[in-house]
Amino acid sequence: MTNNTNKDNKEIFDVCIVGAGPGGSSTAFYLAKQGKNIVLLDKEKFPRRKICGDAISQRAQIHLERMGVLQEILDEGKGHYSAVGGLVSPRRITYIDNSAEELGSHLIMSIKREIMDEKMVRAAVREGAKLIEEYNVKEVKFLKNKKFWEVKSFNKEQGIIKAKVLIAADGATSKISRSLGILDSPPEAVCSSVYIQAGTHQYKDDGVCLYTQDIVPGYLALFKEADGDVVFCCYIIPGGRYKSEDLQHVHQLFLTGEPYVAEALGPKAKIEPMKSGPLRLGGVKKSYAKNFLIVGDAAGHIDPLTGEGIQYAMDAGEIAAKTLEEAFEKEDFSERILKVYQKRWMKSFGKDFKWSSRMVRVLAKVPIFLDAFAYLCNKKGVKYLLKWATIMTGSEPKLNFFKPNLALPLLLAVVRLKLIKNQKS
Ligand SMILES: Cc1cc2nc3c(=O)[nH]c(=O)nc-3n(C[C@H](O)[C@H](O)[C@H](O)COP(=O)(O)OP(=O)(O)OC[C@H]3O[C@@H](n4cnc5c(N)ncnc54)[C@H](O)[C@@H]3O)c2cc1C
Repeated sequence: MTNNTNKDNKEIFDVCIVGAGPGGSSTAFYLAKQGKNIVLLDKEKFPRRKICGDAISQRAQIHLERMGVLQEILDEGKGHYSAVGGLVSPRRITYIDNSAEELGSHLIMSIKREIMDEKMVRAAVREGAKLIEEYNVKEVKFLKNKKFWEVKSFNKEQGIIKAKVLIAADGATSKISRSLGILDSPPEAVCSSVYIQAGTHQYKDDGVCLYTQDIVPGYLALFKEADGDVVFCCYIIPGGRYKSEDLQHVHQLFLTGEPYVAEALGPKAKIEPMKSGPLRLGGVKKSYAKNFLIVGDAAGHIDPLTGEGIQYAMDAGEIAAKTLEEAFEKEDFSERILKVYQKRWMKSFGKDFKWSSRMVRVLAKVPIFLDAFAYLCNKKGVKYLLKWATIMTGSEPKLNFFKPNLALPLLLAVVRLKLIKNQKS
């Protein structure tokens, strides 16, 4: 890995990727595999901390496997499979069970992003991509007469990078896409994250989501890491009582006041100060322009229902690489050719996000669906929990929530819970 370029660099790369998170490094990996000449830039030096809940879904694990990273992480004992988990509903109906035995695999693995992102970057480099660290992109410009991009760093000493195609994989705020006028709005959601030090807490489960009253459609999550630390996150998703600016207050409120969390942490928990990051949800309307693509959080590739984006950033990276392979064959990087990228990711996961958004609106108004779900899990057992979890983690489409075998018992349970509530009051 390197942090400098030749100042008088005459090389014109096929593709320059700004941002070496899961979106950027998977794109670099898949493009380098085709034999393309790739440069991957990041303002940080790896390994670097990335604020996250570290929940890596099966869909993301597939990419890690292809990149030769999953086994390495397992061999080094740096991934923790979530076997025992579940949910706590707004009315505090709780269902926690071992789903791994029933499933024969694990839907989620916790991997600290500091570890996973570095391994992914190294995989891209092994495949032939050139990585330049501590290259903080200040400005990008497409030279129409020369048909390539010029990319400049805040540090002039690092020289100018030239490339035929530019990819913005620079995270939710995506200054690159905004500077080009392709994105015109800030991210709409936020999430906090803290590590609770191993040996100081008393958390027994592996991963639990808490839809505490008032925070829905957002939620809280607790996941155990391979090193024994626990990560706590508080997702504020628009549509509920709380707004992004309430994050600090809400995070603290639930970290200390939510009964399941308080019990899991215990009296001696060593908790680091709160950190947070923005979430751009649901996919942007346009993620392409002439000689240009947007990948991952920058393109809003985050599920509006869960705030999860790692798997979609990786999927988008693969789709971007495939689209560019065809564009390079034709030597045509026009909007007409590159808009296929948008169509493909919409088909792969973007349409699903539309259902997520609808469900967010419903849950914000009728949180009793979550109570009904937890109630049914208690009645029907772990198989029912798994149906919910496979859909929530993106292994199955959201539309499956509306299949009669899931939806009908849920509606009946809602009626039942309403009756119980009316009888009590
Ligand atoms: C608190 C929190 C918890 C989350 N929990 C989960 C979870 O548990 N599971 C899940 O699936 N998703 C989770 N997400 C979402 C997940 O973090 C993102 O979807 C994922 O990181 C997207 O990857 P990316 O590569 O698109 O962007 P990023 O991971 O943000 O990477 C962007 C990269 O670009 C670099 N960069 C930015 N600007 C420049 C520049 N000007 N020049 C050079 N480099 C630049 C950055 O340094 C960074 O390395 C969470 C998000 C937050 C904020």
